Amino acid sequence: MNLQSVTKMDLRRLILVLTLASALISLANTLYASYQVQRQQLIDATLESNHAYATKLAASTDDFFASAMQQLGYGAKVMAKDFSDRHFLNAEAERLLLQTDSFNSIVIIDGKGEVLSTSPQSLNLVGQVLETPGAMASITSRKPVISEPYISAVGNLIIFISHPVFDARGRYLGAISGSIYLKRKSILNRLLGSHYYEDGSYLYVVDQKRRLIYHPVVDRVGTTVAGNTVIDDVIAGIAGKKQVQNSMGTEMLAGYSIIPATGWGIVAQRPKSATLASLDTLTLGVLKNSLPVMAISLLIILWCARMISKPLKQLANGARTMDNPLTAQQIQGVKSWYFESAELKKAMLLGIGLLQKNIHKLRQDVQTDPLTGLGNRRTLEQCLQNWEQDETPFSVISVDVDFFKLINDSYGHDAGDLVLKKLAQHMRDCARADDVFCRVGGEEFLILLPKADQQEALQVAQRLRQQIEHADMSPVGRVTISLGIASWPASSHDVAQVLKQADQMLYLAKRNGRNRVEMG
Ligand code: GH3
Ligand code: MG
Ligand code: MG
Repeated sequence: MNLQSVTKMDLRRLILVLTLASALISLANTLYASYQVQRQQLIDATLESNHAYATKLAASTDDFFASAMQQLGYGAKVMAKDFSDRHFLNAEAERLLLQTDSFNSIVIIDGKGEVLSTSPQSLNLVGQVLETPGAMASITSRKPVISEPYISAVGNLIIFISHPVFDARGRYLGAISGSIYLKRKSILNRLLGSHYYEDGSYLYVVDQKRRLIYHPVVDRVGTTVAGNTVIDDVIAGIAGKKQVQNSMGTEMLAGYSIIPATGWGIVAQRPKSATLASLDTLTLGVLKNSLPVMAISLLIILWCARMISKPLKQLANGARTMDNPLTAQQIQGVKSWYFESAELKKAMLLGIGLLQKNIHKLRQDVQTDPLTGLGNRRTLEQCLQNWEQDETPFSVISVDVDFFKLINDSYGHDAGDLVLKKLAQHMRDCARADDVFCRVGGEEFLILLPKADQQEALQVAQRLRQQIEHADMSPVGRVTISLGIASWPASSHDVAQVLKQADQMLYLAKRNGRNRVEMG
């Protein structure tokens, strides 16, 4: 936009552009600010709820381990009474498996790791010496143990929860253990598996060696996860919440907590995009709701811009035609309802008044003979043109001072001028309102009498001649004039011809002795 087009832009558009620009900028600003605030709120709320959820699940999983261990402990106490009775052990193993629902399988081993009983019996392990990490940990520590995940003797990825069995005298007899299959339906799946939604939210559990204990994608269970800061925290024993990228590169809002019994971390997370999806709809809703008010505001702005600019526009239009006599009237009609426009209107009316006065005076000056104050040749031409157009009949009297050269020579040029002024005054005195007087030469005049025939013109001419004859023209003394009369259209249809004839009559008067009137 160059400077010229800016200066040509009218006030109404300027107000419109400015107000609309400021309204739009503030709307955009408000939308942006509220978008940012709501975005942060949504992120914070999701992080917080995931953290709370992970904490709750960690607590209930820990409770599960505590009660599972309690069940095994109770079983160990019962079995210690008759550890050598295989039938009894089988019955106890079956009872534990069916009654508690905590384990996928139960295995009872003696102090050397030999399997005494299993439930289900279909495992076919009885008689075998178990050298799995779970069995080894249990036998060597002789304490309650929850193992790390490992591949079991029958090929399942399991964790092995075991409780030692001591007899009444405190001798170590072996261990009773429950396995949880990580890749099959288990108590852990039931405990954790409900947290999986269509919006991409999910939960996973990771052990101290970054191995996945639980994951909705079963194939990933047992694999290790690297480069995830959430897991770094979990391994360090820190619970909390964080924005992270998952293994697929998706931005996630994660909350995590530690299961005290195992040191495992439970991580609940939701894709950031799913969390923010509602925000776009929300912002669109805000925009939609603000549309009616915006439309009303726009109408009000349009109306206001019109009201403010209208008087100034009218004044500006008036300023273009200040020489036109009608402009003052137009400006008078402008409704200038506020201070600046009222002052402008006042100033313009004053200016126009002065201008019109000056123009009028100039026009008068242009048409006036400065010595006598009578009209000049311009007045004469204007007058004749008007009357000819209007077909107003008129008579013309041509007047010339007799022997004026002599007056000048005898009394001086100034005295001659004085005579001319006095003569003009006499002409005005004996005229009607519509009569027009023009000085057309040094001491030659024309008197135009509208709607007067030759007889009337003759009377006027005679009266003037007589008045001058007897007038006091001191210091010159007596002065006489000669006059010639012609009429339009009586003398000729050609106006120029009529003037010529009046002149001819004047010369006839001169020839016939001066101080007389002649007409043709
Ligand atoms: P006539 O009776 O035949 O008209 O004789 P005249 O002397 O008046 O002759 P003419 O009309 O030819 O003379 C015009 C003189 O008027 C010539 C000039 O000296 C004088 N004159 C012209 N204009 C002015 C003027 O503005 N002021 C004065 N004082 N004299 C003028
Ligand atoms: Mg003359
Ligand atoms: Mg003369």
